[in-house]
Amino acid sequence: MIAEVIVDVPAQAVDRTFDYAVPEDMQETAAPGCRVHVPFGPRPVQGFITNLKDSSDIPTSRLRAVKKLIDLTPVLTEELMRTADIVCQETLSLKASVLKAMLPQAMRAVYRKKVVAATDAGERHFSSVLPIEDWDTWQLHAPAAERSQLLAAVRKGDLIVEPQVSTKDGSKKQYVYEAAPEATFLSAEELSAKAPKQAEILKQLLNAGKALPAAMLGSDNARGTAEALVKKQLVQKRQEIVERDPFAGKNVQSDEALLLFDDQKEALDKISDSIYNEYHRVFMIRGVTGSGKTEVYLQAIERVLQKGQEAVVLVPEISLTPQMVHRFRARFGSLVAVMHSALSKGEKYDEWRKIREGRVKVVVGARSAVFAPFQNIGIFIVDEEHESSYKQEEAPRYHARQAAIIRAEQFQCPVVLGSATPSLESYARAEKGVYELLTMENRVNEQVMPHVHVVDMRAQLKEGNRSMFSRPLLDAIKQRIEKGEQTVLMLNRRGYSSFIMCRDCGYVPQCRHCDISLTYHRSSHSLQCHYCGYLETLPSVCPECESDQIRFFGTGTQKVEEELYQVLPGVKVIRMDVDTTTRKGSHERLLESFGKGEADILLGTQMIAKGLDFPNITLAGVLAADSMLHLPDFRSAERTFQLLTQLAGRAGRHEKQGEVFIQTYSPDHYSITDVIKHDFTGFYEKEMYLRRVGGYPPYYYLTMVHVSHTDLNQAVTATEKIGTYLRNSLSEQAKILGPVASPIPRIKDRFRYQCMIKYKREPDLSNILKNMLSAWQKETAGTDLQLSIDTNPYMM
Ligand code: ADP
Ligand code: ZN
Ligand code: ZN
Repeated sequence: MIAEVIVDVPAQAVDRTFDYAVPEDMQETAAPGCRVHVPFGPRPVQGFITNLKDSSDIPTSRLRAVKKLIDLTPVLTEELMRTADIVCQETLSLKASVLKAMLPQAMRAVYRKKVVAATDAGERHFSSVLPIEDWDTWQLHAPAAERSQLLAAVRKGDLIVEPQVSTKDGSKKQYVYEAAPEATFLSAEELSAKAPKQAEILKQLLNAGKALPAAMLGSDNARGTAEALVKKQLVQKRQEIVERDPFAGKNVQSDEALLLFDDQKEALDKISDSIYNEYHRVFMIRGVTGSGKTEVYLQAIERVLQKGQEAVVLVPEISLTPQMVHRFRARFGSLVAVMHSALSKGEKYDEWRKIREGRVKVVVGARSAVFAPFQNIGIFIVDEEHESSYKQEEAPRYHARQAAIIRAEQFQCPVVLGSATPSLESYARAEKGVYELLTMENRVNEQVMPHVHVVDMRAQLKEGNRSMFSRPLLDAIKQRIEKGEQTVLMLNRRGYSSFIMCRDCGYVPQCRHCDISLTYHRSSHSLQCHYCGYLETLPSVCPECESDQIRFFGTGTQKVEEELYQVLPGVKVIRMDVDTTTRKGSHERLLESFGKGEADILLGTQMIAKGLDFPNITLAGVLAADSMLHLPDFRSAERTFQLLTQLAGRAGRHEKQGEVFIQTYSPDHYSITDVIKHDFTGFYEKEMYLRRVGGYPPYYYLTMVHVSHTDLNQAVTATEKIGTYLRNSLSEQAKILGPVASPIPRIKDRFRYQCMIKYKREPDLSNILKNMLSAWQKETAGTDLQLSIDTNPYMM
């Protein structure tokens, strides 16, 4: 038996299958979708079986054998393997990278180089864990005093370096103890004189009548006592898998389907037709915030479950709030699994296993949950489908919305895309009838949309108000505090960071390794680079001119918080940003506290704009609405409109009427004026016109080629060559822009250049790019050049 294997080595040249012989003892269990360890060159690597066959073109004498079969049942289903093929084609990703992305991190291989040194005291092992990309630049992990000696011995060949690969499954195991069949209460009595503690534990186990971990045996050193009983053969010990439960300790009140309003019912009927008649269709629900989209999702899923099928619900990481998960738990109880970044590696693995074993039927998760290994999926739901976090910004650069559509085609089931502010790409398809458009214009219970005011900050300056709060916003906040109502305030940090500047000479501290200014962190009193982590202490005088007028500039959330305390003495503020939410569960705790009314104001970055649903929030404010508008990104107006609409949706979601204040220096920009009118289609038409004139999606497709090198000249030369190659290979309709420096021209000491390809129809593009990649890899093997392709870029 021969296995075709995709090896986990990040190189274009090996992006194909290799044949391996399957040893006799593995033949019964080996199957496509199983992970294996195989020898590859001088070292073992992890790989995936993609196919089994009887013979190989490679002569038997040269055929190497599979070293280890890791899985007894395939971890990737046949359907996921097919999906991987399509994702690879569309995103020009390496097959191994896509297969890996489909699995929880805990199931990826760990690569090591091991050195064994014999000493008087016996053998000592030194090893280093490596990402496979850095295989050749390893460092020996050994005490400094011995390191040079060991390395010298390795170089001389006196010590052998042994490459290793290992794969853990991420499950948590513990020992449990159970009374042996021979043990009786009588034997416990007999023990009590000589060993009262042992007698006590044995009685506990006999009473329990089942296996218990030592931690549940009420006594000091229960483990030691239990082990003594094991020796006496009165107790048996074994290892058990402990399943972690992300919902542990959380009680969820169950609820039932609500009676739907007309537009909800109409949407559900359309979707149900596709569920019952089992055909693939993409539905786009454009429904204002609070129009009851989630209720439609829940009832559609209910029908899918009744048919014995499963459901995948994607929610952007940031709005995967406890509130959101709670609603699914309330309806479907323990049939729900969750997948998001706040879970530990092990918890993610356990959730994955529940899905793979069919013990749950619904998964609610962020981007990677789109690859949930269900086998009979009846619906995919992509909530807030416009969110850019659905696009993975590292290889494989897939878009979860697109992956959902690829899978749904194979399952012949519907995909529901939902948003109050659909992406232009999706909405254009819905308008053309490629997707089916379902509209929900009204909030449930006739709740009116909040009143939106725009505050012109230029006028505020003229009136002499230099504060970051305009008078109207401040007055509105004061009113809320008096009435005991709550406010959310958003400071949009992107493009508006908090840096240090010398007032005398204009000097701004920059990262030494990246072309970006350092961000001031008040809590640690340091300057940090948000791209590479570089850290500096705060200078007391300007390094350029020695002036002491070097200060904090810009507006970070910490600064806003301080100013709030000054202008509103006694105000209670909860601040939510990357600084206050890094610890696990802190996001949840802060929201819970705000929900209980423990603060007047929730202040934060974008992360507060999504998914909050508290009845007492009646005011939402944006401090600098145009901070994002001027970024060099064709989607900046779209993003501004989406974010402001989302934030506006936080206010007045229940009985109390909501109000929104948008502070801006561009009060006439259409992305802001259309928010006031809650006019998505108005915005859409203007933006579509500009996209057409500018030659951007959805009228044109984009593909970006990124090049980076530690040497500036090499980066430029390489990008020029690529530009020339593309101009020569593509049709005349395709436009090739560049080479130009990337928006951040240097990150981690690598210079970054790019070429952008704009095209309408270029059927050969993916072949041309693939050929370019493989030719490139041969030519530049061993050099420092890196090349990557992004077929549908989100970050410009
Ligand atoms: P969206 O997802 O569009 O923001 P939701 O589904 O969250 O809207 O609905 C907003 C609120 O209205 C929720 O509190 C929800 O429970 C309630 N709701 C939704 N549909 C109905 C209905 N048919 N009858 C009564 N309340 C509803
Ligand atoms: Zn200076
Ligand atoms: Zn840096």
